[in-house]
Amino acid sequence: MNWEIVIGLETHVELATRSKIFCGCSTAFGAAPNTLCCPVCLGLPGALPVLNEQAVELAVKAALALNCTVTPVSRFDRKNYFYPDLPKAYQISQLYAPLARNGHLDLPDGRRIRISEMHLEEDAGKLHHHDDRTAIDYNRCGVPLIEIVTAPDLSGGEDAVAYLERLRSILQYLGVSDCRMEEGSLRCDVNLSVRPAGSSELGVRTELKNLGSLRAVRLACEYEAQRQIAILESGGQVRCQTCRWDEDARRTVPMRDKEQVGDYRYFPDPDLPPLAVSGEQLNRLRSKQPELAHEKCARYARDWSLSDYDCTTLTSRRELAAFFEQVVSLGAPPKQAANWIMGQVLRRLSADGLDVEEIPITAQALADLIHLVERGTINRNTAVEVFDAVFTGGDPTQYVRAHHLEQSSNTEQITAAVEETLSQNRKSVEDWLSGKEKAAGFLMGQAMRTLGGKAPPALVSEIVRQLLEREKSQ
Ligand SMILES: [Zn+2]
Repeated sequence: MNWEIVIGLETHVELATRSKIFCGCSTAFGAAPNTLCCPVCLGLPGALPVLNEQAVELAVKAALALNCTVTPVSRFDRKNYFYPDLPKAYQISQLYAPLARNGHLDLPDGRRIRISEMHLEEDAGKLHHHDDRTAIDYNRCGVPLIEIVTAPDLSGGEDAVAYLERLRSILQYLGVSDCRMEEGSLRCDVNLSVRPAGSSELGVRTELKNLGSLRAVRLACEYEAQRQIAILESGGQVRCQTCRWDEDARRTVPMRDKEQVGDYRYFPDPDLPPLAVSGEQLNRLRSKQPELAHEKCARYARDWSLSDYDCTTLTSRRELAAFFEQVVSLGAPPKQAANWIMGQVLRRLSADGLDVEEIPITAQALADLIHLVERGTINRNTAVEVFDAVFTGGDPTQYVRAHHLEQSSNTEQITAAVEETLSQNRKSVEDWLSGKEKAAGFLMGQAMRTLGGKAPPALVSEIVRQLLEREKSQ
């Protein structure tokens, strides 16, 4: 029998605010344990939450970019459960009137993934398990989160990864979150079931947690789908469970029967007033929405005829796209700018262990360098040498002048150098005359060497040809 995999994702994203959602504590990552806490985020008696407006603004930006309808008045609810990382024994979340609903995200292949809702909530603390004890760090308690819930529209691990990549790109471009999976600022739970191909009914699903990377998401989906299919094919029934992904064993491990929404005894939080988002606020945020990666891709291809690969690479990070556009705005031809950035800039960043946020060379310096090549002042090989010299600072034009790197386009000078080369390499000239085509390449290399590499290769090659042809006719 053919089986169809059905996946829905719940993604938690930490918002890039400086302070927490209901108090003034810092959201900095990596501080010493329990140093970024106060009575509010620790849930001490008498402490009252006050909503961080910046968190609302970022969440609304995300909702608009995901084509959601923003709820004019949303509400906060208490989700009750005890776990040591949650000192209040309830999480402030939104159930009955979430911030936004009914959005969608389009995958690169054009398929539309429906987003059923998006709500605001607070993060819990973090447990650190050691051999004989568990330590608790409450620094993360109260960090603002959005939870984005899709409809069951994805049909495999690759799909889930494609969705997450596009979601991450959108949120990073918006500045809503840094979306670092390795730091937990983007976390994803997978709901997966299988059904006979063509059936419209949903099978019993399991929830997969603890997916720390895109690779883990893909592998866990593949493993879990096969596990469920094996159960069904042997006549068994899938249990509605929560499973953990065991990265080392590369398998999903059932943890507990899945809770139902009623188990949490949600009720409206009496400490927080309803959250109103006005039409005016929506219009203001909508007008400030930046151009997103896939929109830039389409524009680069349309206006500058860049290939799919170029567009995708250049827009893979907001900072890289911004740098590229700056170089182009300074007059560099787009294709040249793209080649330099994807070739040399990315090469040096990786060699120097730098992130694209830290490109040391200025857009002006790179544009100048490209101009030097375009005008024929230096050739491509020299340009790479200059690039490496000025990558961490410096002016290409000054560098070229100071090191006498200008190439000669003076035909007489080049002709003289080629004549000298031919007279010193008679054997190769004879070889060429007797039909050995390779000899021309050798002579070309020797002539470039005589010129110290400072001449346009195409011109030198042309002159070598001319002089050889002349020898032949003599
Ligand atoms: Zn606090």
